[in-house]
Amino acid sequence: MTQVGDLIVGGILIEDTAIQRRVEELAAEIDAAYPVLEQPLVLICVLKGSILFTADLARALTIPVELEFVACRSYGDATTSSGTVELVKDVSMTLRDRDVLMVEDIIDTGLTTSFLRKHLATHHPRSLRLVSLLDKRSHRMREVQIDFRGFDIPDHFVVGYGLDVAQRLRNLRDIHVVEVPLSAG
Ligand code: 5GP
Repeated sequence: MTQVGDLIVGGILIEDTAIQRRVEELAAEIDAAYPVLEQPLVLICVLKGSILFTADLARALTIPVELEFVACRSYGDATTSSGTVELVKDVSMTLRDRDVLMVEDIIDTGLTTSFLRKHLATHHPRSLRLVSLLDKRSHRMREVQIDFRGFDIPDHFVVGYGLDVAQRLRNLRDIHVVEVPLSAG
């Protein structure tokens, strides 16, 4: 068991093998959803949490893809949303008339994704869709259309497979639940 500050990394919620299987299935769904592409699909990796998911998804897709990166800030080192979202890194190319797929690790309140969707729409892409590995619906504050969904998860703070706690443990292969001991409030 690993401890980061007051937080204890608990049991496995989703095993590595289940993640890999689901990534393959999502890739097949996405391949099928873009039968005719004029130009490669632009995968927009939302840093940092989506990095491992994007890397695996990109390799599982058979359609041509390009990779772009954006970064938003909505969480500090705490386990709850700050409620505001800002863009800290934008895409480095024009997305006009391109097919664009936002790649998210997890949708929680929906604030980050709805902010990003509005921002990316200002580039006038040909299409703009969303794949999210995890969907945590219990705290949703903004309605979000998830076009491709990996797993529904209950109201837990999770780490691993790209997801961090205080920037750590992104490299765990499985997705784990984080527990806050009662003594830590
Ligand atoms: P939202 O704006 O939907 O509330 O949150 C989106 C971002 O919050 C995610 O991209 C992720 O960085 C962070 N987040 C939300 N829930 C969790 C969680 O359970 N674990 C971790 N590590 N990050 C989370």
